[in-house]
Amino acid sequence: MVELTDVRKSFGSLEVLRGVSLRVRQGEVAVILGPSGSGKSTLLRTINHLEKVQTGTVEVDGELLGYRRSGDRLHELPEREVLRQRTRIGFVFQNFNLFPHLTVRENVAEAPRSAQRRPRAEVDALADRLLDRVGLAEKADAYPRTLSGGQQQRVAIARALALEPKVVLFDEPTSALDPELVGEVLEVMKDLARSGTTMLVVTHEIGFAREVADTVVFMDEGLIVEQGPPSQVLDHPRHERTRAFLSKVL
Ligand code: ATP
Ligand code: MG
Repeated sequence: MVELTDVRKSFGSLEVLRGVSLRVRQGEVAVILGPSGSGKSTLLRTINHLEKVQTGTVEVDGELLGYRRSGDRLHELPEREVLRQRTRIGFVFQNFNLFPHLTVRENVAEAPRSAQRRPRAEVDALADRLLDRVGLAEKADAYPRTLSGGQQQRVAIARALALEPKVVLFDEPTSALDPELVGEVLEVMKDLARSGTTMLVVTHEIGFAREVADTVVFMDEGLIVEQGPPSQVLDHPRHERTRAFLSKVL
């Protein structure tokens, strides 16, 4: 489970998250929608503590991110503890962010190899299983630059799964892709969702939201404006701002 409680985040005088509370249960998929600059990426980045929040808390699977609680005080965790916590949170970026000098298999095996110091043969076998799962078994020895964008993003998803994450965060995973490559990435994500992976997905793919989301979250100006099942938020939005946004993306 992922739970954000009254999260606030500013960059200088700009308040980007203005008190966001959100709960995504184990195995659920939350799709986050909202206009550019509304704070969607920042919200995802606070979940794995790439952004420190000013106030509020983030918990993943009951574990407080970045802090240790003692009484009602919070104490910052040392960097290596934060890194350990982050290994259990998968992150898939818009631009894939694969290591260009590593093969596809090495990209997927890198985290279990360096974070868990597991033997080469074991992490390679794990990587091959994950690549098979995203339909890329035959590309294991290729380098990222030789792959299509859709294939690269599927490798990035396999890599995000390598440390058995408690949750996988996706930040506009298909928006850098040519239209004909979007479907293959969404199929892999649907498959993950069906297998019970807890997912938070920032995307403008309304069809994906309708089909896969348990909950749709609409954000604007650093706040959650409304949230509910797709049939409610997408088909019967309560707020004018949600209606205005949907009329542009639908
Ligand atoms: P988009 O749909 O364009 O990706 P978003 O909803 O993901 O937008 P964020 O990237 O979270 O929006 O940004 C929210 C606001 O915070 C924007 O005004 C942005 O300029 C600002 N911002 C984000 N990161 C930083 C940073 N590191 N320093 C200063 N301002 C930032
Ligand atoms: Mg963004």
